[in-house]
Order: sequence, then structure tokens, then C-alpha cells
Amino acid sequence: MENEIKQCPCGSGKLYTECCEPFHKGELAPNALLLMRSRYAAYALNLPDYIINTTHPASPQYSHDVSSWAKKISSFSKHSAFKKLEVLDFKEQGDLATVTFVAHLSQKDQDATFTEKSYFDKVKGRWLYRIGQLAEGHVPTLITQGQIKILPLAYYGDPILRKKADPILEISDEIKKLIDEMIETMDGCDGIGLAAPQVHHSIQLFIIREPSEDENGEIAWGDVKVFINPVLSSFSEEKWSLSEGCLSIPSIHFDVERPKELTVEYTNLEGNRVQERCSMMKARVIMHEYDHLQGVLFIDHLSATEREKMEPFLKRLHHRIHDGTEL
Ligand SMILES: [Zn+2]
Ligand SMILES: [Zn+2]
Repeated sequence: MENEIKQCPCGSGKLYTECCEPFHKGELAPNALLLMRSRYAAYALNLPDYIINTTHPASPQYSHDVSSWAKKISSFSKHSAFKKLEVLDFKEQGDLATVTFVAHLSQKDQDATFTEKSYFDKVKGRWLYRIGQLAEGHVPTLITQGQIKILPLAYYGDPILRKKADPILEISDEIKKLIDEMIETMDGCDGIGLAAPQVHHSIQLFIIREPSEDENGEIAWGDVKVFINPVLSSFSEEKWSLSEGCLSIPSIHFDVERPKELTVEYTNLEGNRVQERCSMMKARVIMHEYDHLQGVLFIDHLSATEREKMEPFLKRLHHRIHDGTEL
């Protein structure tokens, strides 16, 4: 006779029936840590529907093509051996949480272990996985509860994205704190620029990671630059096109034509008014973020025909984000 006592694959040491199974059967995970564990167990047990149903609609992993998405998850499950889940850190603040973990896996007998920091959002009472960031190195095993500073994003359809932002009169401690949180949010979402209205503050502030281009045209993303009350002028006649995306309009990308050069005048963090001539990628990122302060989105740069083609995707995105998942 076979011994049917089954340990949960999440590695809690508990029985599956008393650990992750209730979540897989529809019970809501009460916090992001338990959701994370149950997602790991779902990968191990090849339950793609659970992964799909607990992924935030604004996640870069979200796909409209649910059947091929499910196949992809399933193939990952089948080709991996799930050895152990090790949770290093768990932080929760309001409707946001992060879990840092090591997933011990192997694929074709090769070690495929990785460390990831995952971000979770609570939407209408349900915790959902939003994005994962591969973390370097190995942190000692430790579960801590503390403050996190990943801000909730305003997504396409949120009226704040259509408002003209107010000038900043004083660089207060509050503004400085917001800037720190915006940096963490931008990096957490793998962004290269973020404007204050995107995190629900209608003020004239944006940040970018400063790009530099080598002779082969390879872009390296450098330090963070902060722009307060920016004004753009002296645009070059010459323009160029490049595919753009926006953290507020997830999973939509297309070419936008913009001037090659411009002058930006702004107040820096020290409160000094400075002027800079910028070109190419840096000028593009600055224009994209500056647009956000005017209530303009990159999709507004589409031609009428392009916009028409894009409309069904935007409608679906709006529906997914504001009315809940459509599957
Ligand atoms: Zn479990
Ligand atoms: Zn944007």
C-alpha cells in the first residue's frame, strides 16, 4: 500500500491539504507571503490556472492569449524540479508587499536556482503578483516585517494622468521622501523614467535614469536625475523614431517620433535652476516624462490611423485594470 501523506511542495513542512491546497481550490491567500508560497507550489504541481488567476492584469507577464500563456507555465513546470523555497524577506504596507525568496530548482539536472524580489498588489481584497526582479547574491535567511516604499501606480484611464500638474513651490522633506520612493518604484518596476502623476501626485516632478550611449549605440543606464518644474525649448528640426512603452500603459509599445535634441531648464534637488542641452535617448526620456506633467500620454503621439488600430488594445487594457480581469 502506498503512503498517501503528501508534504506541501512549498516546503513549509506541512501537509499539502493543510497548506497550499485550500488556496489552489479558491480560498484567498490572506497575505502576499502565503500567496507567494502557493504560487511556488502551483508551479511545482503544474497548476497554470492558479498562476494566471493570481497575476496582476498590469503585470508584464500578463497575456491576453491565456491558452499559450498556460502552456508556457506548464512547460516550465514539467521541465523543472522544484526542490525548495527559501523566503528571505517579507514586507507589507497597506495594499503593497514584497517577498524576496530563493527558488531552488533544477532543469535537466542543471542547477537553475534563482533569487527574486517579487512585488504584490492587493486589488479589491485579493493579493496579486505584479512583477519580479531578479536579485543578485544571497541574503541570510530572515523574515522581517517592515515598511516598503513601492508606490501604487496610476494606470491608463486614471484621470490624474490627464491633468496638468501643479508647480512645486518648495522642495520640502515630503517632496524629498516622495523622490526616494519614486526611485524605488521606478527601479522596482524596471522603468527608466517616472513622473509624479504616475504615482498619484499631480506635481511638476519627474525622475529618469541617465542614459549614455557608447560608439556601438549600446545604452547604459546611469544615475538617477531629478527634474523639478521643467521647461522644454529649442527643439531640433531633425526627428527620430523609437519604440516606447510606459509603466502606466503596461504591455503596449510602439514607435514614437520625437525631436533629436532639446533644451531643458529645471530646478535640481539642491534648489538651483539649471539648463541643459540634451539629445537622442536622454532627450526622448525627458520628453516622455515631461508629457506626463502636461496630461499627455505617449499614445497621443500616434497618427489617427495608428490610434484606431490601437484602440481595441487600449479598451481591453482599461477594462482589465479598472473593471477586473477578463478571461
Ligand atoms: Zn504550502
Ligand atoms: Zn510614461
